[in-house]
Amino acid sequence: MPELVEVETTRRDLSKVIEGRIINKVSVYLDKIVYNKKNEFIKTIEGQKVNSVKRRGKWLLFELDNNYLIIHFRMEGRFYYLTLDAPKDKHDYVIFYFDDFSLHYNDPRLFGKMEVIEKNNIQKFFNDKKLGLEYDDPNLTKEYLKDKFKTHHTDIKKMLLDQSFITGIGNIYADEILFASKINPRAYADKLSKNKLNNIIENTKLVFEKSLKYKGTYPNIDGKRGTFENHLMVHKRQGLPCYLCGSIIRKEKIGGRGTYYCPLCQKNK
Ligand SMILES: [Zn+2]
Repeated sequence: MPELVEVETTRRDLSKVIEGRIINKVSVYLDKIVYNKKNEFIKTIEGQKVNSVKRRGKWLLFELDNNYLIIHFRMEGRFYYLTLDAPKDKHDYVIFYFDDFSLHYNDPRLFGKMEVIEKNNIQKFFNDKKLGLEYDDPNLTKEYLKDKFKTHHTDIKKMLLDQSFITGIGNIYADEILFASKINPRAYADKLSKNKLNNIIENTKLVFEKSLKYKGTYPNIDGKRGTFENHLMVHKRQGLPCYLCGSIIRKEKIGGRGTYYCPLCQKNK
């Protein structure tokens, strides 16, 4: 599933090839992917330039001349950068044609969404989503988390997955961040010291930056998969010895999600 790092990797790759380029033509093969009326969506986008490619949480934004095109990959959405005459895959549902290449939106699970909205409505759109702070926002401090968590006598793992505190942390990254911070996934969020909260913030940055270096865990626009999965410290390692202490990594369900942790390194609640 694409998480913040995967969306950010796509953003970085796409910005190199589509910024400053004009979308000449759009073909939509499945109406439900597009939130607007199909004809309006096509008419609005065609002929507009992509001025920049941005990201907010797990949302990707194409800043056009008059609008934003916003995209959410959900379970398996992805973009492929292809030649103009590249054949359409059966799971390609929206194709953008530029002067000398095309961009195919592929989505085998059909959960992804696209919407074109007016520029002055973008703030309201994200306010309504109640997204928390980005991992690199200077306002993300131990004081911020202490305040947010003080009324949540809840497992820290669940709090990290809740997008309204820090946005963009999914299941893989929550496990890796807690392992790096030496915090048990069942530790109560409201009981964590400011020191521990600071560890979470610092390790969120480190884990995201490391994953960005390996281009995440997901197919990129050239079809090649990111290789961060080869560098996971704890996630999906149940039954194997911990790299740091040799204890056997455990797996438990927390908040419905498979959660991996080291019983010794992360004994701290
Ligand atoms: Zn360990």
